[in-house]
Amino acid sequence: MKDKIIVATGNEGKMKEIRQILGGENIIFSSLKDENLQDVEIIEDGTTFEENAVIKAKKISELTGQMVLADDSGLEVDYLDKAPGIYSARYLGEDTSYKVKNNHIIKQLEGVEDEKRTARFVCAMACVFPDGQVITTKGVIEGRIGYEEKGENGLGYDPIFYVPEFGCTTAELSPEEKNKVSHRGRALTEMYDKLKKRGIL
Ligand code: IMP
Repeated sequence: MKDKIIVATGNEGKMKEIRQILGGENIIFSSLKDENLQDVEIIEDGTTFEENAVIKAKKISELTGQMVLADDSGLEVDYLDKAPGIYSARYLGEDTSYKVKNNHIIKQLEGVEDEKRTARFVCAMACVFPDGQVITTKGVIEGRIGYEEKGENGLGYDPIFYVPEFGCTTAELSPEEKNKVSHRGRALTEMYDKLKKRGIL
């Protein structure tokens, strides 16, 4: 029988990326929706991306007795003391549009020179096993906050996240190009190696 990993997300884009990177013949990935768990309330009260990823995975693993994978990610802007950080989704209010969030960040960096506009996307990934063991990984992509929104792809803060080595924002990369270099892609690749070593994949 195939092993199953529940992914503690309701986001289909993330499920697709996870299946692409971790998928194989021996494993099935199932989302919270597939498990009818989309309404479970999880209080993300950790102080780091890693703590929040572990909180999410643990909660679902305790409820189901299954292996569970969860991630937590966000944008750190150095000039803003690493805000919005773990509050990226909740920044200026959960329902505030990213147009408003992005323009607010650009405004706060008005007049700030290139060298001080450094920022990064961070992703922490946690896999919790039924016996309570935990594996974590972390991926980062370094960039700078742009001067205006650019690009239509991606999500959230992508239009203001300029990557000097590509000469464009992550919203101007195709999904395939972004997955290869993104924080989530990197955290997932490291998770693949760790799970493979344990003979799970
Ligand atoms: P979560 O980890 O899915 O809760 O994501 C947290 C928030 O971080 C998202 O809602 C976005 O605002 C931001 N974020 C995470 N990854 C990305 C990315 O690749 N591009 C743009 N924004 C991101």
